[in-house]
Amino acid sequence: MGLAMNPDPIGAPTRTILLNPGPVTLSARVRAALHEPDLCHREREYADLQDEVRRRLLAVYDLDPAIWAAVLLGGSGTAAMEAMVSSLVPATGSLAVVENGVYGERLSRIATIHDLTHTPLHRPWGADIPLDEVTALLDRSPRPTHLAVVHHETTTGRLNPIARIGAACRDRNVGVLLDGVSSFGAEPIDFEGWGITACAGTANKCLHGVPGVAFVIVRRDALLPPSVTPRTLSLDLGTWCRAQDTRGTPFTPPVTAMHACVEALREHAEEGGVLARRARYETRAHIVARGFEEMGMAPLLRTEESSVALRSWQLPAGVSYEALHDGLKRRGFVVYAGQGALARAVFRVAVMGEMGDGDLERFVRAVGEVVASERAIREPEPSPTS
Ligand SMILES: *Cc1c(COP(=O)(O)O)cnc(C)c1O
Repeated sequence: MGLAMNPDPIGAPTRTILLNPGPVTLSARVRAALHEPDLCHREREYADLQDEVRRRLLAVYDLDPAIWAAVLLGGSGTAAMEAMVSSLVPATGSLAVVENGVYGERLSRIATIHDLTHTPLHRPWGADIPLDEVTALLDRSPRPTHLAVVHHETTTGRLNPIARIGAACRDRNVGVLLDGVSSFGAEPIDFEGWGITACAGTANKCLHGVPGVAFVIVRRDALLPPSVTPRTLSLDLGTWCRAQDTRGTPFTPPVTAMHACVEALREHAEEGGVLARRARYETRAHIVARGFEEMGMAPLLRTEESSVALRSWQLPAGVSYEALHDGLKRRGFVVYAGQGALARAVFRVAVMGEMGDGDLERFVRAVGEVVASERAIREPEPSPTS
């Protein structure tokens, strides 16, 4: 076939769609916000911007500002995780950590680095989290004061059962420290019902902002008083929160990214908030799943176990990740590799960011083309004369 001779009969794409889990493809509005005039962070205009971002972050989940604070930080999602874990567990406290992927293990690593008393509940990547193992960990003596867990484990796409884990914590008065970095803005989070003390997030995943702004939503009564020497200076939530409450900032914030963040939050609210974004992702995920399953491709996890924002798919037989990635990139789509031992087995497709359903239909066709051309190279069709 002609295709086998010329496996990549395409021109350069005009626009690239990012299907990695952040940073995301920006909307025109958010990109335009990057062109706001230069601004000093000690000016009133910056304080107004910061106030609006903080107010809008709480409004995403309808949280009462008398009880909750949105604390803004400069950094990636990991900075928010580290600020949350290192700032909120008191010296007399201890932490249980649920691990079933890279990010749960990262929470434990942070606890180790900051010398917190902590006990992991270790599960293989992608495995479910049995509730009886969580309650056994919570009922150990001495009982942990906090439990850290990832909401959407982006390693595999598994959405962990925080409603059940959180209820067990709430019953025991154990504070939940949630890594919501890849779910905040697109999955329901019941802050009160799930016993949440704090939730770490970032602007550049489901909220569709740019990298640079991270944040922790925290119960005000969980912040340690200024008389306690913090474990960290630049990531101490109390330090940031007290300054932001008085319209200040302790250190230079990512001003330009903050402009993009406020625009992304306005867009999120105008589009209908969390449930609307979730519905949009679900439609996108369904277009990908239907197309892939028609081609005989299989997901790593069942739909009911998965987030709507990202799913892992088994690499089609005979196609390496590199070939798939490179072929798709030439066609204007960036997919994401599996991590660790999963790198040879799966690839990941996130549907966060600015894109249309038609883009995903083109993406599915592009995957079909790349798979067909790879197989044509490896298994040339028998010649008609043989
Ligand atoms: C992306 C992500 C992070 C943080 O990643 P950064 O590269 O530091 O932004 C943390 N937790 C989860 C669940 C994530 O998906």
